[in-house]
Amino acid sequence: MNILILGSGGREHALAWKISQSHHCNQLFIAPGNAGTQQFGTNVNLGITDFEAIKTFCIDNKIDVLVVGPEEPLVKGIYDFMEASKDVWKGFVVGPSAAAAQLEGSKAFSKKFMQRHNIPTAAYAEFTKDNFEEGKRYITNHSLPIVLKADGLAAGKGVVISETHADALEVFENMIINQQFGDASSKVVIEEFLEGIEVSVFVLTNGTDYQIIGHAKDYKRIGEGDTGLNTGGMGCVTPVPFMDELFMQQVEETIILPTVKGLQQEGLVYNGFIFFGLMNCDGTPKVIEYNCRMGDPETEVVLARLDTDLLSLFAAMDNGTLEDANINFKEDYFATVMAVSGGYPGDYEKGKLITFSHKNLDNSAMVFHAGTKQTEQGVVTNGGRVLTVTASGESIKAAVEKSKAVLATIHFEGMNYRRDIGYEFE
Ligand code: ATP
Repeated sequence: MNILILGSGGREHALAWKISQSHHCNQLFIAPGNAGTQQFGTNVNLGITDFEAIKTFCIDNKIDVLVVGPEEPLVKGIYDFMEASKDVWKGFVVGPSAAAAQLEGSKAFSKKFMQRHNIPTAAYAEFTKDNFEEGKRYITNHSLPIVLKADGLAAGKGVVISETHADALEVFENMIINQQFGDASSKVVIEEFLEGIEVSVFVLTNGTDYQIIGHAKDYKRIGEGDTGLNTGGMGCVTPVPFMDELFMQQVEETIILPTVKGLQQEGLVYNGFIFFGLMNCDGTPKVIEYNCRMGDPETEVVLARLDTDLLSLFAAMDNGTLEDANINFKEDYFATVMAVSGGYPGDYEKGKLITFSHKNLDNSAMVFHAGTKQTEQGVVTNGGRVLTVTASGESIKAAVEKSKAVLATIHFEGMNYRRDIGYEFE
């Protein structure tokens, strides 16, 4: 099969690595890719929302499977666009339709969906400028902390947890009246704060059948001990010791099954990954958010642990045999530790030369590039999150130590990473 992966992060590098191992993989392209993805395929200079150019590329290169990494093209309707081109393109897309991608693209949509299907989540209400005054009263009478969410996509910055009513009222006004996130905050979801540990579960579905392909716990804060600003993710571990059979059974019965049934009942076409962002509230899982694609850096541990051919799973999803697929996991624990640019998640400089001095890595460690670029001088930094090292071991601690040992052989000016990923599992 010929494959095109859309995206340029560590997630896409991990997808390229995994897909390239399949004996079904013939030609592999990544658009636009990064300095790492070219190890496994050919980088192509295509915009991820330039649907016409993507379609032409898919036709010209006889692409069988279009794997969409990030949410933006999905929410903008790449699935529907490519489906409408089936007279000239014979492949299939891994990703949901635009209507189903609203599970990520609109927080109000996803909350209503969960309510309709009795899926456990935080209590909420939604407001626009038309009921702004009512929203203010709702906030004033709400317990603290209180969670405010811009309805639409806001690059991970549209969620604020307020400790005081005054702060919440200011955030509310900024979002709705001052349009802090433009149209994305013209509607605001106000939500009860859920106490617990955040984890995620990953599912591949064709909207009828599904398979759980893994789970993970990530570390979002920049500082050790989970302090400081939120980031796109500083590291991840899997499997998570408390996500045992009982917990996963609850996730499946109360969350995954009703979600997939709900998609089916509502005719929401889905052929891809669902990322369930969950809070473990004293042993009871509740949904924080849905994402309509894999996570980053979760993909970098989930796919490393998955001992099943990903292309065969995609084919099974497309031809209706997903239910019969065998999902196997490697025995080891997996961890990934992200190296970021100095200053991230605030301002940072790009273009720093990266030196790699590790000897050939054995199969138990892998460097996944995120914000990197190949130049004539060598590989340079090209983003806040630069690269991540995934490693395996007999314990979470052993896996993290191995990641850090490899990171210690990589250098770029200002490089920073958390030394305490997986700290609570030691
Ligand atoms: P991202 O893109 O970073 O995953 P997002 O903008 O899609 O985030 P959410 O995932 O809904 O928004 O929220 C961001 C973060 O805020 C969550 O990962 C979680 O840590 C926290 N959060 C969101 N809702 C709640 C809640 N009800 N209770 C406690 N924490 C919450």
